[in-house]
This record gives sequence, structure tokens and C-alpha cells, in this order.
Amino acid sequence: MPREAPVTSTARPVTCPSCLRAAGRPARGRAGAYHAGVEIDCLFCRIVAGEIPATIVRETENTLAFRDIGPKAPVHVLVIPKEHYADVATLGQADPALAGEVLATAAAVAEAEGLLVDGFRLIFNTGGYGGQEVFHAHAHLLGGAPLGPMLSR
Ligand code: 5GP
Ligand code: ZN
Repeated sequence: MPREAPVTSTARPVTCPSCLRAAGRPARGRAGAYHAGVEIDCLFCRIVAGEIPATIVRETENTLAFRDIGPKAPVHVLVIPKEHYADVATLGQADPALAGEVLATAAAVAEAEGLLVDGFRLIFNTGGYGGQEVFHAHAHLLGGAPLGPMLSR
């Protein structure tokens, strides 16, 4: 169920978001993962698992939206699939329906944050030239003030 009020995820149990079983045992044949789709060393997988606190603004069965720790605009929310994909290109090709769920969650957050009238920006930084720093697919939802030109040169 979507949550309306921001909450902090510190109290959430550490479970694998893919299979909802207790995490801690590496998936058979897949080094570095609790279970398929969950990377131990991935920051955003750890937020999904409740191991790292975040201010969650919306949660659905397959997606999570939480405030960016270093906001670049009055509203700066990250929207992710709970399952691990390295970037939006990988996500979009492997699971277009899940990519669509990420967009639907972003739209719902934009509406809840009052961004639909004045507008907002949705960015998927991808790879080195795209400036991606966290390699778990995520959309930046930015708004709440004029955002200026799309790119500065
Ligand atoms: P990227 O550069 O990969 O597109 O964006 C990564 C984003 O993750 C950055 O905007 C950064 O501020 C945010 N970020 C990094 N670490 C954390 C964290 O621990 N919590 C939250 N909420 N955001 C983070
Ligand atoms: Zn991840």
C-alpha cells in the first residue's frame, strides 16, 4: 500500500525485498547477493532492506521513493525498483513493466508533492558520461522551484 506520510525506515526488519524472507544467506551460485536481485554492497538495496535509514515518501510492492540525502532542489526524491538493476537501460530492457512502475511511482510522488501544476524534472543518470554514482537504477524527481537549463556547458 502506498504511504502518504514520510516515514523513516530504521525500524523495518532486514528482509530480502525480492522474496520477503529474512536476509543474510547468500543466494546459491550468486556471489554478493542475499537472494537473486539483491546486492549486498549496493547502497539502495540496503535502503530497500531497511539496513540504511531513509526518508521514504512512497512505497509500492515493487518500488520505493525516498528523499535524496543531498537535495539539489526544494523537492528531490529518488524513485527506485526494489529489485536490483544497475541502471535504467538494464532495467528497461530486462523488465519494461517494472520500469513503468517506477514512472508511475514518480508521477504519484510528483502529484503528492504538488509538482504537477508548475512542472518538474525526471532524470536517470546512466553510466560514466551520465554522471551516475549509485549503480542501482533510480530516477531523480526534482521540483519545487524553476530548475534552470537542462544542461550547463
Ligand atoms: P546518481 O549520481 O547516481 O544519479 O545519484 C545518486 C544520488 O544518491 C545522489 O543524488 C546522492 O545525493 C544520493 N545519495 C547518496 N547516498 C545516499 C544515501 O545514503 N541516502 C540517500 N537518501 N541518498 C543518497
Ligand atoms: Zn541495488
